[in-house]
Amino acid sequence: MDQQKLIALLMQREYVPGEWLSAQLGVTRDGVRKAVEELRQAGWAVESAQGRGYRLVAPENAVWPSRIRARLRTSWAGRRIDYFDQTGSTNQIARELGAQSPELAPHGTLVVADEQTAGRGRMDRTWQSRPGASALMSLLLRPRALPPAEATNIVLIAALAVCDACRSFGADALIKWPNDIVCGGKKLCGMLLDMSADMDVVRFAVVGVGLNISDCPRSPELTHAGCLEEAAGCALDRAEVIARFLEAFERYYDLWVQSGPPAILAPYAARCVTLGSRVRVAGLNDAFEGEALRVTPDGSLAVRTDDGLETIVRAGDVSVRGVMGYV
Ligand code: ATP
Repeated sequence: MDQQKLIALLMQREYVPGEWLSAQLGVTRDGVRKAVEELRQAGWAVESAQGRGYRLVAPENAVWPSRIRARLRTSWAGRRIDYFDQTGSTNQIARELGAQSPELAPHGTLVVADEQTAGRGRMDRTWQSRPGASALMSLLLRPRALPPAEATNIVLIAALAVCDACRSFGADALIKWPNDIVCGGKKLCGMLLDMSADMDVVRFAVVGVGLNISDCPRSPELTHAGCLEEAAGCALDRAEVIARFLEAFERYYDLWVQSGPPAILAPYAARCVTLGSRVRVAGLNDAFEGEALRVTPDGSLAVRTDDGLETIVRAGDVSVRGVMGYV
């Protein structure tokens, strides 16, 4: 009996029927009972309820699929949820799932981890996190007929979704173009888009989100990091935050599919702290200042430089900072 597989199955739902476990594990109902008993002896709290099945008792605040599902109202986002106590990068796992068939890893598959040891940011930067203190997750998407040049829209949708999720808990969250969530000048969240594409179409995309919830890394170089609980002024359940994110993501994604980029650009602009501000745009080799004017339908930023000319900067190429500070 593969004990890890049994634990993973029990983490999927609050109550897991013995019959389903026996089909998944390829053992008899008696075999399941024996395996559950062994888990109990190894220290796991497994309850059993007549007619409902087994329940693996989750620690408070755990980001197990069972806890996320119990709070989730979506039709496709989070349809499949894979959980890891610890992993290198959730984006890496979601990419591997993306390469599998859509039947096995459908549109909306979520990979979530309690701890990430090799989190990445844009342009090969690192995403640091403290175990058990954040939402570390990647959503696998299988867009229909999306040209690679328009994939940045997915980042805008993710930024909107995290921003709305944070606001639903009372935080005054805003978006720093393209995909950072800030509150009171502090960065709560970073995002990373990975994709696999042919010349003219995206095969699948993975959007990774690292959101500081109860704490943020205290390393000296992260002077502008903050966390959601501080911003909201109350203790939060991480599974609840993830569920709110998935719901908002599904809503904005469906709106984008039905009505096109303008439908998401308006709410994005309403939450974007960058627009109308004087910004410093830093590329790999040069930097300039100007006024951020608008976000274009492909997710780029239009900036007016001091000579009055308009420059379009693409999300993947630059870092944008406020001239007075991080935002
Ligand atoms: P920026 O405009 O902040 O430079 P970016 O969008 O280019 O951001 P990201 O890919 O979002 O960068 O994230 C990587 C950067 O975020 C790191 O270089 C680091 O400065 C910062 N960072 C890393 N971990 C955290 C964290 N837990 N909380 C806040 N900031 C972090």
